[in-house]
Amino acid sequence: MSVDRNAFFSEMNACFSENGYASLLSKTKNEKFLLLTEHLLAENEKYNLTAITDPSEIVFRHYLDCAPLARLLPQGAKVIDIGCGAGFPTLPLALLREDITVFAVDSTEKKVNFVKGCAERLGLTNVTARAARAEDLGHDASLREGFDIAVSRAVAAMKILVELCLPLVRVGGQMIAMKGKNALFEVREAKRGISLLGGKLTEGEDIALKYKGEVFERPLLTVEKISHTPTMYPRAYAQISKKPL
Ligand code: SAH
Repeated sequence: MSVDRNAFFSEMNACFSENGYASLLSKTKNEKFLLLTEHLLAENEKYNLTAITDPSEIVFRHYLDCAPLARLLPQGAKVIDIGCGAGFPTLPLALLREDITVFAVDSTEKKVNFVKGCAERLGLTNVTARAARAEDLGHDASLREGFDIAVSRAVAAMKILVELCLPLVRVGGQMIAMKGKNALFEVREAKRGISLLGGKLTEGEDIALKYKGEVFERPLLTVEKISHTPTMYPRAYAQISKKPL
């Protein structure tokens, strides 16, 4: 599927500039985002990867949406994306920040294969992808507490997400969840779990993104890892979801 090049580039530049993220872009990166969009739309006809098929909406909801997080990540960070789906935020983060590495995890193999294919096509050598359940990786000695930052978008409520993410974060690292309007409520529900898992809630960032005259809230809920996660966590998924900490 071909996307109008010039229209796509002006959409990228306008959308990023309007929100103060133009400095993250370059001509080469725009070309790669175009390739990604074409590949996403072509593969979407075979597998259901995204409900958003209008290139302008893709720019806003998939690419710009990841820009605030891309700006926040420390230099050279080793990042894990829990429940990456078709590669969000993995692919925009890796594209916008060539200094970081992203380990993308999803339980659905076809989505992980798509992410691997995209990384290859776009020459993103800073992306690794694995089909696995996050709660299993949390008990893998080579990965447990092995990441500077765990990120996640649209996977689960915060009280569930903390048990999937925090065991994978090193002490001194952070979990950053891309959330929406319910963020405050979700935080309240997750407080006990955060402290049991060795975390401490920090202020995070109250981001709001503008698109076509509307404002969309995208708070980044941030938990610092202050002590080791007890070895009994994460539990099996049925327990995590039925009896959140
Ligand atoms: N982050 C992507 C996808 C969100 S959909 C985006 O924002 O577009 C949620 C994804 O999380 C699904 O692809 C699902 O397979 C994955 N997922 C849910 N629970 C998981 C778990 N315990 N371990 C790994 N992946 C999980």
